[in-house]
Amino acid sequence: MQKERGNKMIVVLKDNPDEKQLNNLVSWLKSMGLDIHFSKGQSATIMGLIGDTASVDIDLINSLDIVETVKRVQEPYKNVNRKFHPDDTVVEIAPGVKIGGGNFQVIAGPCSVESEEQVCEVASAVKEAGAGLYRGGAFKPRTSPYAFQGMRDEGIKLLLEAKKKSGLPIVTEVMDISHLPLFENVDVIQVGARNMQNFELLKELGHLKKPVLLKRGLSSTLKELLMSAEYIMAGGNENVILCERGIRTFETATRNTLDLASIPLLKTMTHLPVIVDPSHATGIAHLVKPMAMAATAAGADGLMIEVHNNPACALCDGAQSLTPADFTDVMEAVNLIRPVAYKG
Ligand code: PEP
Ligand code: MN
Repeated sequence: MQKERGNKMIVVLKDNPDEKQLNNLVSWLKSMGLDIHFSKGQSATIMGLIGDTASVDIDLINSLDIVETVKRVQEPYKNVNRKFHPDDTVVEIAPGVKIGGGNFQVIAGPCSVESEEQVCEVASAVKEAGAGLYRGGAFKPRTSPYAFQGMRDEGIKLLLEAKKKSGLPIVTEVMDISHLPLFENVDVIQVGARNMQNFELLKELGHLKKPVLLKRGLSSTLKELLMSAEYIMAGGNENVILCERGIRTFETATRNTLDLASIPLLKTMTHLPVIVDPSHATGIAHLVKPMAMAATAAGADGLMIEVHNNPACALCDGAQSLTPADFTDVMEAVNLIRPVAYKG
């Protein structure tokens, strides 16, 4: 059984530390049974100490020539913690398609894949409007078992077809570990709000190298969201993108309540990219534009927006889906905001 891995500490090193002194420090810490993780960022080199640090003499380490500062880390997450990794993570989804660290991406497409015609038509429309990635649900988590459940494996095939035709990388949701083989050529695997704490699924995704878009659970705290991301990163997959998609509150006028403050707050807590889904956050098409603009202004690294060629006939989430023309208008507004967005 794995032992609870004690407290964590970080040691910030001075620039160009003396190699001999550094080796001595590392051997001494290792002799106390600690694991050491180095993170060499642009601003500093940081040593993360994991294990039972209770008996480590903080003052002694602080007094060393090569050490700038030493801090104990209270948070239960490590891999996702900005304290251990001060630089923004940039997730490269496909050659030239990056998100995070100043790279902004808009993911757009229908709630669900419905037909070849629909999926290909919307893909070319959102590409034309400037989306960098294409979304569409093949496996749909629906509240009612009688509602459209998605085209499943056939839906993935159609998305791959749209990817081939449009050249846009694709994002689609996985609901079960057993379906993962179908996702081999999918560029970003989405974990939906309802699966944010499906820990076995998160562990499995941790073994892949493929980017994962992790959506915030309906009633999850930011700490819980980060702990779920930690599950994926702890398995070795560093390509995690977080998505704020609204949370459930007492308010029923909107489908969910968009927690805009989570964007700048998450970005102080973690180095991972944070995107916002104003479609599921509001459930109302005309609220998507103002919330997309607000999320961009608040410093989001990207957006996920539902677009349908005929929202009135959509099999899922028509009320929050934009037409291609409305989506083009949102893209223009977002592009105007981007240069003045909050950067922390
Ligand atoms: C979706 O993006 O299609 C979706 C189901 O969203 P969420 O998991 O945020 O409800
Ligand atoms: Mn939807």
